[in-house]
Formats: sequence, C-alpha cells, structure tokens
Amino acid sequence: MEWVDAIIKALTDLDGYASEPEILKKIAERQYRDYGRSQTPQRSLNYYLNQKLKDRVRKIDNNWVLLKNPSVYVVNDAQKKADTIKGIIELDKRFANQIPEIRQRISSYIERGAIADKVKSLADFKCLICIAQNLNPYSFVKNNGDPYVEAHHVEHVSTLKTGVLSINNIITVCPNHHRQLHFGRSVLFAQTDSHFTFEIDGVKMNVQKIIIYDNE
Ligand SMILES: [Zn+2]
Ligand SMILES: [Zn+2]
Repeated sequence: MEWVDAIIKALTDLDGYASEPEILKKIAERQYRDYGRSQTPQRSLNYYLNQKLKDRVRKIDNNWVLLKNPSVYVVNDAQKKADTIKGIIELDKRFANQIPEIRQRISSYIERGAIADKVKSLADFKCLICIAQNLNPYSFVKNNGDPYVEAHHVEHVSTLKTGVLSINNIITVCPNHHRQLHFGRSVLFAQTDSHFTFEIDGVKMNVQKIIIYDNE
C-alpha cells in the first residue's frame, strides 16, 4: 500500500488523531505497509504528513488530526462511550484539545445518545426555557407517546473548555427555543451549581440544571 493510503487508514483506525509513533505502530500492526528495507519509516512518515497530506491532516500539539471531511471523522468507539456518564467524562478529557469540528461531532453523539434520553426523562420531557418563562413546556407528542424535546449543550462545545461535554452542561429545550439559543439573541449570563442564568431578548431568567448522579 502507498504511504498516503497507509497513513490515512492508520489515522482512521486511531479515531482520526494520533501521534507519529502511534501511526507507525498501527501501520506495522495492520501491515498496511511493509517498511521493507526502509531504515527510516519515521522520516518517510514525516515527509508524507507534512508534504503530500498537508491538506488532509493538521498537527495539534503532538497529534495528527485527519481533516478531510469533518462529517466522516471516524470516532470509532466515541459513539458508544457517549452513552455512559463515565464514557462522557473520558471523552471530554480525551477530546479536550481537539479542533471544534471534532468536539462538535462528539457532542452530537451525546445529544442523541442514551444519556441525553435519560436527561430528557429526568426533565420530564419539558423545555426548561419555557418553564422559566411560564409557557407550556411541552411540544408535540412522538409516535412512542413521549413528548418531543431536544438536548442542548449550554456552553458551546467549540469553546474547548473541559467539562463542556458533561451532563451538567446539558439542558432540555423545545425545538423553537433550541433554535433561538443558537441563532437568536441569547447569552449565558451566569451559572451556579444549580442553575443557569440566561439573558434572552434582554430578559434574564434562571434555568434549573439537571443533575445526574453516576451511581450505576
Ligand atoms: Zn421552549
Ligand atoms: Zn444546541
């Protein structure tokens, strides 16, 4: 296999980011490329990463990130991890320094995963912003009988702050308020252990945080 393909395959196997020694090890392990008589695989790797692959990878600290298309980032086990609280804490640490596109992808796994479902049922499928505004907190009812509600990460995942992927940063919102939080005039004004204070269209309101205890 050509170096370029071998590197892409190895990086893909490594969740789209890895150090150079990890890439070399993976290439050898999976026999993507026979180093053969080459005495300097490290030098070849370096050359391909910096020259031939320069539009497809980016170096962050000591790791190489596969960039080609954020929608096809391979985050092999991240999806499964996003379903447990322990896994999410691990993901938050592991992806702490990743580029915003990757963290965004991880956060969407969490927002659609089993933990988000748990958060939704804990919130009784209510929109917490509607509650803060004394509005009817339920949107429509789904086929399975549950009211429809969405999960939202309050502090933007792209801020790269640790803890941003965590459960305590998730609130449940109706589709309308969810769009408003992303596209409307809303800012997170302050937060305590128990609630967020938003300013939405110039009006301040407190929104209860949902707390999940990791006791399973
Ligand atoms: Zn709402
Ligand atoms: Zn959101």
